Amino acid sequence: MSENLLISLNKSQKSAAEHIDGPLLILAGAGSGKTKTITTRLAYLISIGIDPKSILTLTFTNKAANEMRDRAFSLLDTNSLNTPPLLCTFHKFGLLFLKFYIGELDRKNNFIIIDSDDKRRVLKSINKEIPTALLGSEVSKYKNSIMTPSEVKAQAQGKLYSEIADIYQKYEEHLFKNNLVDFDDLLLLPYKILKNNQKLAELTSQKYQYIMVDEYQDTNELQYRLLRLLCSTHNNLCVVGDDDQSIYGWRGASIKNILNFNEHFKDAIIVKLEENYRSTDTILQHANALIEHNRDRLGKKLVGTKDKGNSIKVYESHDENDETRKIVDDIKSLINSGKNPKDIAILFRVNALSRSLEEGFNKASLSYKLVGGMKFYERTEIKDLIAYFRILTNLSDNFSIKRVINKPKRGIGQTTIDKLEESAQNQGIGIFELIQKATPEELSAIVGKKNARTIKVFEASILDLRELMAESKMRLLDSFEEAFDYRASYDNLPDGFERQANIDEFYGYIRDFFIQNPHLDLKDFLNEIALENQSDEYSGDAVSMMSIHASKGLEFKYIFIIGLEEGFFPIIGDGTDLEEERRLGYVAFTRAMDDLTLSFVHSRFYKGKRTQLNKSRFLIESGLVKGSLVIEKSSGFKKGDMVNHKIFGQGRVEKAVNAGKDYKLTINFGGQKRDILSSFVEKN
Ligand code: ATP
Ligand code: MG
Repeated sequence: MSENLLISLNKSQKSAAEHIDGPLLILAGAGSGKTKTITTRLAYLISIGIDPKSILTLTFTNKAANEMRDRAFSLLDTNSLNTPPLLCTFHKFGLLFLKFYIGELDRKNNFIIIDSDDKRRVLKSINKEIPTALLGSEVSKYKNSIMTPSEVKAQAQGKLYSEIADIYQKYEEHLFKNNLVDFDDLLLLPYKILKNNQKLAELTSQKYQYIMVDEYQDTNELQYRLLRLLCSTHNNLCVVGDDDQSIYGWRGASIKNILNFNEHFKDAIIVKLEENYRSTDTILQHANALIEHNRDRLGKKLVGTKDKGNSIKVYESHDENDETRKIVDDIKSLINSGKNPKDIAILFRVNALSRSLEEGFNKASLSYKLVGGMKFYERTEIKDLIAYFRILTNLSDNFSIKRVINKPKRGIGQTTIDKLEESAQNQGIGIFELIQKATPEELSAIVGKKNARTIKVFEASILDLRELMAESKMRLLDSFEEAFDYRASYDNLPDGFERQANIDEFYGYIRDFFIQNPHLDLKDFLNEIALENQSDEYSGDAVSMMSIHASKGLEFKYIFIIGLEEGFFPIIGDGTDLEEERRLGYVAFTRAMDDLTLSFVHSRFYKGKRTQLNKSRFLIESGLVKGSLVIEKSSGFKKGDMVNHKIFGQGRVEKAVNAGKDYKLTINFGGQKRDILSSFVEKN
């Protein structure tokens, strides 16, 4: 039985799957069967009698976790499995852990996960001057480097960063006080708990005797340290990764984790897989040609096992509409010839590029899924409901109270809300606490008699629902509607039908969750959707559209990559890491099994204006487009620039070709075209 499991593996894959004790690194290129090997190993360990409960498999997206679970379970007789092995994202693991052990940090386990939107609002409420995007990414960076606010403060250089350190401190206090955790905390808090409690660390490590991680190249320092603690009693860690596919450098992922695996985990065995089973030889050749332009790489061998296949198509289009038309036509003929839409994906580096594609698909009545563009929970009506439910689980959630205290409209204006907030702040309590504590007279003194009455009714309804929730969560939704008429408030509105359909879908989902998980409550539901929301679910027989980041680890027979223009892919700007852009290119190319089509345009409408563009250097580096490289440098020259020449006078640039530190320009001087090096002209 155990041997049969391994039958579809090649020799190196088999040796890795059969490996039982001690650290193991599988280092190999795209499509070489890394994921296949560890899912098979998972099944193999169970088949030789290892307790499934003692195996932990971690990955980065829910989608990947689900696929791996399917792959592993298809190899096993799942009926005989009492408890399935834990296979989930790092964040989900953190959540499960915190449910049991957050008490170690003097916090209760009724904590709520906040999403990035909430995080921004909290930060904004602390500081309005510094852009929240900067604050958000700094805080995230500190947490992932395991730095406390005071450590950040001690190292802060300059006034701005010292201020950010203070904001970080206040942000942490806010989360603590309201028992909230952000996504980074889902990793950081478990780490802190285990770090400070050696006994618990040992127990947890003993519980998970065999640990596996897919896409190890994308782990960061915090994840590595957490893994170390989890492995402290056994070192049975098996990781797989590919340095050429490290695409989360901007989020602190460190390729060093792979490079130093040998030092981090003593006596590690390293297995290399050198055959690619996914892509045609043509696709592989061009992907390899592209990645060879990176200097920072280990350099691995990757040979194809499939035929040469079709050549790669490159589409050159006038603009995005023209591009969409070509791709839609191609996809239509694929589907008409019997191909399954779910084998087709369109990838882009920049999310905004999906807009014109979506339009084109809608016009052509082609169904598609926007992966990672999960907008459901971002809709107003759903966010409102989530806010209501958050209040029910946590009365001190001021943001949610402010959001829904006048939804549906009950005459509470912004001024009233401001007054409530101010009084609450003055007394150092939350808004709901203020409403609860104040007598009707006191409340009237703050917001006027009529408002006070309305607010007291709101308070009573919330408190009633909380009581009811403790008794019977199944009746909660009906009682909620009875109390607030939320769904009914969309009756007869122009877009009411669609919104009510969303509300129904959401209610259905909650009911289903309660039925499936009788022992879990509303708070668990909220945490569950916070995690889901962060991810990238997709399913069904539709063409997929997604960012390259979301496509990691996936494969499709037909891949289209759009937006291969300088500036869009690679993205060029402050802080661009060209090698990481190129790795993204490599990831994108290697998603394709049979056919790959690349596309670039001469101009795109973006951020309110039409911009002229040059084709991406990646087309040239991958050997798909011959010729010199036309690059638009921010400080350089581009088509359309007006320039001055000492002898020929004013002219317009018609072509700019990068030539070392200069540009070779084709300039039109009043009808006369001349080729001139850029150092001989001045820009107007
Ligand atoms: P990525 O780096 O993109 O995550 P990977 O190394 O994880 O890729 P897999 O997704 O495991 O690769 O495998 C790629 C494809 O090759 C899959 O379709 C898989 O079924 C197939 N494959 C892997 N190993 C073999 C093998 N030994 N024989 C036949 N097919 C294989
Ligand atoms: Mg994989």
